[in-house]
Amino acid sequence: MGFSNYINDFNRLTAKYVPLGNEWTPSEQAVCGVGDPFRVPVEQADALRFKAVKYQFIRHFEKNRIYRRYCRQSHIAPEDIRTMDDFHRIPLIPTDFFKDHPRGKDFALWLANLYTGDVPTIHIHGRNPSYDNVIDAFNTSGMAAMYSSGTGGRHTFVPRDMRSFNLNEIALSKNAISMFYPNWSPKMKGYLMLPNPFKTNLFAGRLATVFFDVMTKVDVAIDRTINTELIRRTMAKEKDLRAKLTRSLSSWTYRKTIDNIINWMEVNEKEGNEVAIVGAPYLLHSAIMKLKEDGRSFDFSGRGIVLTGGGWKVHEQRRMPETEFRKELQQTLGIEPDRCLDLYGMVEGNGWMTQCPEGHHLHIPTTYLHPMVLDEEYRPLGYGESGRFAFLDGSMYGYPGFVITGDRVTMLERCPHCGRPGPVLEPGVTRISGKDGRGCSDEVRSIISRDLRG
Ligand SMILES: [Zn+2]
Repeated sequence: MGFSNYINDFNRLTAKYVPLGNEWTPSEQAVCGVGDPFRVPVEQADALRFKAVKYQFIRHFEKNRIYRRYCRQSHIAPEDIRTMDDFHRIPLIPTDFFKDHPRGKDFALWLANLYTGDVPTIHIHGRNPSYDNVIDAFNTSGMAAMYSSGTGGRHTFVPRDMRSFNLNEIALSKNAISMFYPNWSPKMKGYLMLPNPFKTNLFAGRLATVFFDVMTKVDVAIDRTINTELIRRTMAKEKDLRAKLTRSLSSWTYRKTIDNIINWMEVNEKEGNEVAIVGAPYLLHSAIMKLKEDGRSFDFSGRGIVLTGGGWKVHEQRRMPETEFRKELQQTLGIEPDRCLDLYGMVEGNGWMTQCPEGHHLHIPTTYLHPMVLDEEYRPLGYGESGRFAFLDGSMYGYPGFVITGDRVTMLERCPHCGRPGPVLEPGVTRISGKDGRGCSDEVRSIISRDLRG
């Protein structure tokens, strides 16, 4: 099947995420208006990205009071952004900032202030609403606010609107399916190694909503309701009884989950189905370990794909080597290494860096995402140098998606393994050691936090 028929199948199945053509802005042009996002010639991708980022920068400057003040303090206005060379002047928000939120009703105000444009009318009950109450109230009114669990026990909260959420779903799935060409099929049976997207506002759950549209049937590893409190208790190191109980429960659920995964493999192997396994690598890794322990294996060669994401930490300090994982996958499930790809992305943006099958380098979707690598003083570094990853997201309406991350990356101008144009990140993204907020990052954070609470 040619690529255009292949992607037409995808477009048909995901049409509900795409606004009508006459409502498109440069953001939709950049995400929905291209075929294979990783085969767009560099000049064309540059033009799309310039328009999308500039369009969003003007919007956030005009419609977001807090961001406008921040820009004024940095002496930057939309007219200063004339070419892509000016992009490094666009003020960035450190990811730590999204963790720096108050509780209760102040939290609702904080989220509303961070939002660009008019916040829908929301009703929050009670004097001291929980994070979940507030998020639910926003989302009932048509937003797609989400969170992720921070390592320090503090959640990251991000106020996406539905339009940006839909673009995220398109970008995520189209990036992956293009890289899997020609191996994805709408006939596939899917297994989601993440929380059920329809029962949580956890980003790592909800982002997989689109998976249900591009598969025939999807089974889910974690099918109960997941809220911030549960995540906090599971992650926290505190020794109270409730936490212990949750942990032991989750270890029982854990064993049951692994058994379910293996049962699913058994059924699908027997029926000869094409399969797609998507989600956290550690769950799949555990299933593989269990199979090895039992001396069992399956044969999904030529009819399976695996898409992982969310980091490679198996336990606290142990990092799983990706190449070893792919080797085990082939030995135990028969799924070939070029059918096992990893994604790198985060709750703070719609950018999905996606590995190519040829060399497993992370290709950057540059039609809508402008990537940067910064040194410790936040000055841009060149290709081949390793530093802090930052990006300008031209697809984000809900809040200024101009973000400095806490991740260390190395960016190359071209992939050393395949012919796709555009820059890549080397595989094996790590966290920057030490405290995230320092120097300028701390300053920015306190400025914006004070404004948001005021
Ligand atoms: Zn490549």
